Amino acid sequence: MITPTVRAAATAVDGPTYLYDLAHLDTHLASIRVALPKRVELLYAMKANPDARLLAVIAQHTTGIEVASGGELAHLTSALPGVPVAAFGGPGKTDTEISAALAARVHRFHVESPQELHRLDGLARATGRVADVLLRVNLPITARDGPALVMGGAPSPFGMDPTDADDCVRQMHHLPGLRLRGVHAHLASGLTAADAAATANGIVDWALRFAARNDPTATEVNVGGGMVVDYTEPDTRFDWSAYGSALRPLLAAHPTLTLRIEPGRAVAAYSGWYATRVLDVKRSQGEWFAVVAGGTHHLRTPAAKGHDQPFVALPIDGTSPATDGGPVTVVGQLCTPKDVLARRAPVRLAIGDVVVFAMAGAYAWNISHQNFLMHQPPVVRYLDPVR
Ligand SMILES: *Cc1c(COP(=O)(O)O)cnc(C)c1O
Repeated sequence: MITPTVRAAATAVDGPTYLYDLAHLDTHLASIRVALPKRVELLYAMKANPDARLLAVIAQHTTGIEVASGGELAHLTSALPGVPVAAFGGPGKTDTEISAALAARVHRFHVESPQELHRLDGLARATGRVADVLLRVNLPITARDGPALVMGGAPSPFGMDPTDADDCVRQMHHLPGLRLRGVHAHLASGLTAADAAATANGIVDWALRFAARNDPTATEVNVGGGMVVDYTEPDTRFDWSAYGSALRPLLAAHPTLTLRIEPGRAVAAYSGWYATRVLDVKRSQGEWFAVVAGGTHHLRTPAAKGHDQPFVALPIDGTSPATDGGPVTVVGQLCTPKDVLARRAPVRLAIGDVVVFAMAGAYAWNISHQNFLMHQPPVVRYLDPVR
């Protein structure tokens, strides 16, 4: 749950600190890449964590980055000018954002609706460009082999219904600013390798039939992200090897298929830690509480997902006031009962102890409501810089 480098750095923190182990991230990504068939294009969905130092490591192992806003696009192109912007996705793209993406020569536009298709065409033609399009489709694919949250097929603000996608292609014959490249679908999160492989198979199957009836050259398929990160099992990982093996027959059966994936959480989650110190311990109605510096305004993940964030306690000395070793709920400094990082953990915590929350590298600091109560932001430290 904690690397030696992180443990050493954590003992030295005196307030809320994000510790990013860049060597750990580098190794993790190398293992993902090697587990996947060469033909699979690996993108990173930067909404999981847009930190520039992390992106620089991730970019070494990926075909490119998927951005989901003009803000992400601007950040990526200014922080890492040479890195390919592989895709621009997300609902509610503004004209300004689309124009910026056209100017940045974004590789693929993931089009979310028929209306967006027409606006993209107009803006592309106005700038004399042709936009390469994947239609984002909300396909009714349900795969259950674990804690899968199945999104596909139900009413959704994301993507378009399959029949609308067919309509879009018919309209595209009259939209010279656009070139159809294929289909995008991001249907679920929390997918096990078996679920993810089943989902990919279902999407590719649909996408290639869609191409066959509409445009046989549109054989690119982006099957999205959503690979599981299990916060109750910090030492387990999405089984990239099993996933990679399951994709091989699919690729072999379809030599012209371009297959892309765009994970976020399963890439970045394991290489970030949030370390802080215990400020107070107390007993309320028979239950122990430990108040740490910081809270869910820095690490929103447990509040957002409704889980207990896994952590390691690093005791500092034996003399400070402490809990009795019974279950302790770890809370932050916010004046709201929702500021809970972990409930009823079986550890002894003393004032001054360091608490290191693991799996804090994705959807953590960047999704936090940082100005609530106007505490200072966390310090960010990078460990083992690579390259
Ligand atoms: C959020 C998102 C992803 C990444 O999802 P993870 O669960 O972080 O892997 C990929 N594609 C799209 C379209 C997304 O919205």
